[in-house]
Amino acid sequence: MRSTPLLFLFVSLLVAACGQRGRGTGAERALMAPGAAQASSGTDSAPRAPDTVFVASAVPPEIEARMRGVSYPEGAEIPLSELRYLRLSYRDFDGAVQQGEMICNQAIAADLVAIFRQLYLAAYPIRSIRLIDDFGGSDDASMEADNTSCFNYRKAVGLRRLSRHALGMAVDINPLENPYVRGGNVRPASGKPYADRTRSFPHKIDRTDLCYKLFRDHGFAWGGAWRSVKDYQHFEK
Ligand SMILES: [Zn+2]
Repeated sequence: MRSTPLLFLFVSLLVAACGQRGRGTGAERALMAPGAAQASSGTDSAPRAPDTVFVASAVPPEIEARMRGVSYPEGAEIPLSELRYLRLSYRDFDGAVQQGEMICNQAIAADLVAIFRQLYLAAYPIRSIRLIDDFGGSDDASMEADNTSCFNYRKAVGLRRLSRHALGMAVDINPLENPYVRGGNVRPASGKPYADRTRSFPHKIDRTDLCYKLFRDHGFAWGGAWRSVKDYQHFEK
């Protein structure tokens, strides 16, 4: 019988320990669940910075209104239903997040959304991404402003045939630093200092450039690889 108090004590301690552990586990569970819920609701309600968007949609009526008679003339051979309106976040030359807009052919919309998302994630600097309609449909004005754009219903430079831009199948990136060069003809005119591609300078597209690699990987041809004409800003399918 001498052992009874000791046994009682032992059992009591064991029960107490189990109870303690049980309560502890329960308390941890109780704490974890609300904690997890709080963390997720906190993420939802917290302001997301920077806010980004990479979306392709049908051309909205207000955008169509901006395009008609400008980048999209009467008699254009491509129906608007085959074009897509893209909203694309990008980093400008100061590294600030900006929201761009672009019109392209539906056939390359998914490519462009993926490419510009990658460019954004890599903080690839782009001067601006605005519709050519903001420049009165003038390719020269858009290039002089170093604007990145895609669709513009126009003839190829110096040719009678339609440009791939007229079908929304070509994109020009940072055109000032990556001009169109044909002999002494440089477009935009203020892109002349950048016609010499042996020089190195910021925003230059060459075969080591991320932009070049992404477009190549998505099956685009680069105008900088052409023979007689060099169009360093230009990627087309
Ligand atoms: Zn082009």
